[in-house]
Amino acid sequence: AKVLIVGGGGREHAIGRAMLASPQVTAVYCAPGNPGMTLTGIQCVAIAEMDFVGLGDFVRQAGIDLTFVGPEAPLAAGIVDYFETEGLPIFGANQAVARLESSKVFAKDFMRRHQIPTADFTVFHDTAAALAYSQQAPLPQVIKVDGLAAGKGVTVAKTHAAAEHAITAALAVTQTILIEAFMAGFEFSQMVLVGGDRFCLLPTAQDHKRLLDDDHGPNTGGMGAYSPVPQITLAIRQQTIEQIIKPTIAGIKADGATFNGVLYVGGILTATGVQVIEYNLRLGDPETQILLPQLRGDFYQVIVDLCHHRQPTLTWQTAATYLGVVLATPGYPDHPQTGGAVPTLPTADYAGVSGTPQHLVSAGGRVMMVLAQGADLATAQRQAYAQLAQLDTGQLQFRHDIGWQGLTTAAF
Ligand code: ATP
Repeated sequence: AKVLIVGGGGREHAIGRAMLASPQVTAVYCAPGNPGMTLTGIQCVAIAEMDFVGLGDFVRQAGIDLTFVGPEAPLAAGIVDYFETEGLPIFGANQAVARLESSKVFAKDFMRRHQIPTADFTVFHDTAAALAYSQQAPLPQVIKVDGLAAGKGVTVAKTHAAAEHAITAALAVTQTILIEAFMAGFEFSQMVLVGGDRFCLLPTAQDHKRLLDDDHGPNTGGMGAYSPVPQITLAIRQQTIEQIIKPTIAGIKADGATFNGVLYVGGILTATGVQVIEYNLRLGDPETQILLPQLRGDFYQVIVDLCHHRQPTLTWQTAATYLGVVLATPGYPDHPQTGGAVPTLPTADYAGVSGTPQHLVSAGGRVMMVLAQGADLATAQRQAYAQLAQLDTGQLQFRHDIGWQGLTTAAF
């Protein structure tokens, strides 16, 4: 079988690697991909991820059997709806379901309607009303811009002055904001592959959104991840399934949509149980790069089964912890300085790179992820940094503490 992956980052590299490991898969294409992926045998196709007509034409010409969508933007813009009208097999959320990610107000209303545990919230369109509410609401409070903001639309305000600043700034550039109660707890990601009523869970993971060690600095696309997360016990996972995952899948159906694709629950383990921070309708980056290598089974068959609403058979390794450290260009995320050399490492997943596989050059913010594994989290962390010490990372920046919460936080 031939597979097309839409997207061009580390997540898509890892999806391509998993597809190539299937005995049924003869070729994997990635549009637009990046030259680092070709080290793994993925073939890049120069079609933009938002060019649905171009992608559809390629699928017909190349005889692609399955298209898998990596990023949120094409899902939110309706790539799945387009492919389905054209009769082309695709795995991903359709536009109606993708609204759970692309509109925070829609997602919060959905959770309220289906009694899925999440922070209390109020929606505002008007600055005066928002400020009046904020002044008397407890601190910290969380101000969120409605819509896809690539991780930049959220402010956790610890003072009323900070809240006022965030509200005024947000409503100057957008029509709709949310003010949410702050939840204290331990954040983790639970991804689920869904095909109609059938679903299968990926292992738990934890991302590191802030640029610098000790969770300082600006938010990024994600600087590293590990899996599984020791604090998330089987009992907590079971609670997540019963109180969040099943009602979410049932709620989507009850609201009239069909759903084949990825459900990503951004969860937080609080003193009163697991709550939802956000939904995404695609795999996380960099979590995918540490999750899919744990699959023991045929990833292509899993996705084909889900497309036909059959329960897939799949197992995950349980003996080791996987940990990945992301390397980014100097100046990332605000002013990435591109054009520097990027090391060639066949086991790495590549993102913002150009050039040739032997002479990769940085072309974006996050450029690659180094993956390691170990018998436990501490060993996986040591292995990852030992690998990095061997690599000529030049000017590239990375965090030195990926995994710290898993190593130091006491479970509830
Ligand atoms: P991304 O898609 O990059 O994860 P986003 O812009 O969609 O981010 P959220 O995931 O909703 O935004 O929030 C970003 C971060 O802000 C969360 O990972 C969490 O640390 C914090 N946060 C958001 N809402 C809350 C809340 N109600 N209580 C505590 N922390 C919160």
